[in-house]
Amino acid sequence: MANISYRIKPRTGKIELPEKLGFGQIFTDNVFEMDYSPEKGWHNHTIKPLSNLDVHPASMFIHYGQALFEGMKAFRTVDDEVVLFRPHKHFERLNNSARRLVMPTVDVDEMVEALKELVYLERDWIPTKTGEALYIRPFMIGTDSALGVRPSNTHKLIIMLSPVGAYYPEGFKPVKILIQDDYVRAVRKGTGECKTPGNYAASLLGAEIARKQGFTQVLWLDAVELKYIEEVGTMNIFIEFKDEIVTPELTGGILHGVTRASVIEMLKDMGKPINVRRIQLTELLEAYETGRLTSVFGSGTAAIISSVGELRYKDKTLILNQGEPSQLEIDLFNEIQAIQTGRTPDRFNWLVKVEVPVPAV
Ligand SMILES: *Cc1c(COP(=O)(O)O)cnc(C)c1O
Repeated sequence: MANISYRIKPRTGKIELPEKLGFGQIFTDNVFEMDYSPEKGWHNHTIKPLSNLDVHPASMFIHYGQALFEGMKAFRTVDDEVVLFRPHKHFERLNNSARRLVMPTVDVDEMVEALKELVYLERDWIPTKTGEALYIRPFMIGTDSALGVRPSNTHKLIIMLSPVGAYYPEGFKPVKILIQDDYVRAVRKGTGECKTPGNYAASLLGAEIARKQGFTQVLWLDAVELKYIEEVGTMNIFIEFKDEIVTPELTGGILHGVTRASVIEMLKDMGKPINVRRIQLTELLEAYETGRLTSVFGSGTAAIISSVGELRYKDKTLILNQGEPSQLEIDLFNEIQAIQTGRTPDRFNWLVKVEVPVPAV
């Protein structure tokens, strides 16, 4: 484990969190940062005040998009402990994104330790109301300053923290989603399974068109045949039929959601018939006609479970479960939230405790 140097300014005054936190609007005082070069590997492990970046205008990430990020959460439990939700999975996924983008990988255990130190230092920023959390955003950028497409040699990794509000302050509310085939988000064998900025840039126009028509998000189809259901672009998707629950197989265009993996594990544990397979849009539309379709929901770190009340595809409107969340959606949401806040035992071993570090001698 590399030593982390602390260059923090001592905090003066109490942290006053606003009543409505929103998402990603405020940031804690300090960040973790480290640099990579081929000669030194990862070095300069530092916890220091959040500040603007000093980057050369020719920095490669700006021009050629060599960048990636992660998103996870820390919670304060009912026993006043601080926990991280599945951080190893998130750093493993960061490494998968890094390999695809020809960026350096990190030591997962070392990163989890660094994150614990940062979160411990910033623990007073963790909001405590139900549904609130400390959102954790690690990201990496290629920092060589030179024009011409090639992989950057030098990189920077930063972890910043943001207290976030409850996704559903007024209770679990279903969302309206547009199934879009004028645009695609990501293509298999491309970078669809990486959390890399380009995928989100590619999704903005389709999402903006959906938003103008009153939809919250877009359900993307596969980019090759425009036939198979993929994901929502910030959430993975589950379809609850009368006789089975299905989530699309990870064929390369879909992000490997940690919440998705957690939901699959829970459904198996509940003895539900969960199948991971490719699913065509026509199967969904037919199931709606024949009454085989019960509900559709998204899974992701931000909302945990997001019930879909309405789906639109061209001139077809599907109202799911009378526009109300299904019992399964409510159960999954409550159970994951109960585990994250320590109200129910962590029987899947998903939590990593942030313990008081031994004081430096
Ligand atoms: C982050 C993300 C998800 C959800 O992943 P979680 O690990 O569950 O938060 C799903 N799809 C895309 C495209 C994402 O970026």
